[in-house]
Amino acid sequence: MSRASLPKSRDLSDATRLIHEGEARSGFGEMSEPIYVTSGYAYETMEAAEARFDGRDPGYIYSRFSNPTVTTFERRMMALEGAEAARATASGMAAVTAAMLCQIKAGDHVVSAKALFGSCRYVVEDLLPRFGVPSTLVDGADLDQWRSAVRPETRVFFLESPTNPTLEVYDIEAIAKIAHEAGALLVVDNVFATPVLQKPLKFGADVVVYSATKHIDGQGRTLGGVVLGSEKFVMDHLHTFMRQTGPSMSPFNAWVLAKGLETLSLRVERMQASAAKVADFLASHPKVKKLTYCGRDDHPQAALVKKQMTGGGTLATFDIGGAKPEAFRFGNALEIVKISNNLGDAKSILTHPATTTHQRLAPDARAELGITDATLRLSVGLEDVDDLIEDIDTALKAV
Ligand SMILES: *Cc1c(COP(=O)(O)O)cnc(C)c1O
Repeated sequence: MSRASLPKSRDLSDATRLIHEGEARSGFGEMSEPIYVTSGYAYETMEAAEARFDGRDPGYIYSRFSNPTVTTFERRMMALEGAEAARATASGMAAVTAAMLCQIKAGDHVVSAKALFGSCRYVVEDLLPRFGVPSTLVDGADLDQWRSAVRPETRVFFLESPTNPTLEVYDIEAIAKIAHEAGALLVVDNVFATPVLQKPLKFGADVVVYSATKHIDGQGRTLGGVVLGSEKFVMDHLHTFMRQTGPSMSPFNAWVLAKGLETLSLRVERMQASAAKVADFLASHPKVKKLTYCGRDDHPQAALVKKQMTGGGTLATFDIGGAKPEAFRFGNALEIVKISNNLGDAKSILTHPATTTHQRLAPDARAELGITDATLRLSVGLEDVDDLIEDIDTALKAV
């Protein structure tokens, strides 16, 4: 096997890196990346096995630790993110959990924005405290709350931006600065922005996590996740945690996701262009209230969006008529847009967070996040945008 590398001398764009980075051909010279479906690796000699295990020979040992196809996916993600190191995981939640647990111990403290994907909030709010790691949840947009939540034992700051589902945007650079002054690391869940539109490491974040299940696959096929950061973070914390606890990605899923990355920037650009048009249509419709889209000038943090994102993204959030019956009637009248809880897919998806992704939260906790029984989240896919707008327009007439 030989692993190709792109010219280091040139400043290549994401689109180019996503297609060629991490290519690993077997002796047959195949064009499409091979899938190394294997749990283990054979050694020529007993001495070779010994050298692999004691680190003199850096080759593969066991697919819970690493696998050539998984390496291809990790290399492509590292190039896209501008990260020194990465570890792929079985799901996005495995990535979030590993990124947190690998670096904390009982007695440490975590500060997190309260607007989180439901399962992320469970990890921070319920799971970590059970193991002696209390957490403080703050309004992520309020820098003073981040500052005053800091304790001497604070080790990790955690946030998502834009948030799910309300599409609030947090100042990554300012929050990273507060984290570093406190001696903590900032972990950013960058799923909603995608690695194409926002690079948290450039703004001072220390660790970036993804659910690759979303835009990176983008066709609803596999689960996957990835944690990216410095070589030091990975070697000091993540590497051993991953090897010994085993939330590893399967080679088949790594292959699907590495191929997904080849078209990621193309898909995100197209979905974003359609999302902008759909958002403008929704904003101008008399039955639609509280339309939020990160790419519009009326987004409450439009200046911050321009600073840290290169586009408005692929999601929009809105209310119809202010109540659940209208939201359900609208969803049930859609014919092209699917009702589901995934996002970033080629197929457009409508989600009612209060009864699905955020059902676990008490109504007052949802209200605090700005999620009402009327809130709808739309993930704009790759269908023709005029067909989508017609579908939405027709469904709005049914309300
Ligand atoms: C989906 C999602 C996750 C969890 O990812 P899975 O692949 O479903 O485990 C975490 N964070 C955000 C923001 C997500 O959208």
